[in-house]
Amino acid sequence: MKIRVLGAFGGEGLGQRPSAFLVNDSILIDAGTVSGALSVPEQLEIEHALVSHSHLDHVAGLGFLTETLACCGSDRPVTIASLEPIVDAMRTAVFNNVVWPDFAAIPPEAPVVRYRTLVEEAEQRVGDLWVTPVPVSHTVPTSGFIIHDGNAGFIYSGDTGPTQELWRAAKGLRGIRAVILECAFPNRMRKIADLAKHMTPDLIRAELDKLPPDVPVLIYHVKPQFYDETATELSRIAGDRITLLDQDKTYILN
Ligand SMILES: [Zn+2]
Ligand SMILES: [Zn+2]
Repeated sequence: MKIRVLGAFGGEGLGQRPSAFLVNDSILIDAGTVSGALSVPEQLEIEHALVSHSHLDHVAGLGFLTETLACCGSDRPVTIASLEPIVDAMRTAVFNNVVWPDFAAIPPEAPVVRYRTLVEEAEQRVGDLWVTPVPVSHTVPTSGFIIHDGNAGFIYSGDTGPTQELWRAAKGLRGIRAVILECAFPNRMRKIADLAKHMTPDLIRAELDKLPPDVPVLIYHVKPQFYDETATELSRIAGDRITLLDQDKTYILN
């Protein structure tokens, strides 16, 4: 399995793009940025977008991707998939003809957006992957995902504070090669992290025991404004088990 990091951050900075990952060239996991990291032909290869939640730093890229699909002769739609409240939010709060056009109706002869509601905590086929969505703890309905191709897989936390269900759902699963885990703020901003339901390095340290043992932890979603401070604090945890995800890098899991 190939995971290309289109955006590794929990916001936007100079050269720092919001969270988005492209798996096997055709399946997005979150879409904070798409067109800012992919050529038009690469955008046209995208068939599915697994969306963890409706916050802008995870969906803004879908706005510009759908415009590319509608204007550049794509012959297939992108299917936006997640748990029901998240799909509803995409429909009613993003592609609602106020914030952005309703691309589920544009162009009329072949709309470029489709929606798909996934079943909670059930493994289901999305493209060439198996996907298990599991609700996590954030300020709006949010799903983490367990992603597997039959041989290798990874756990994607979505935005979340400390959680149990996602780790429980992944327990005993074979072939989990990585946990992609969010961390938003440095330790001194714990109050905001608790309110906004995000992780800090201290919270990640406490979370480690719940994770599948010995699996590498790749951190994403650090806020650009506090990147160096947060990175330094993360580097003091758990030796080399924790690394920060590199934007634009492609990770191979097998
Ligand atoms: Zn976020
Ligand atoms: Zn969020």
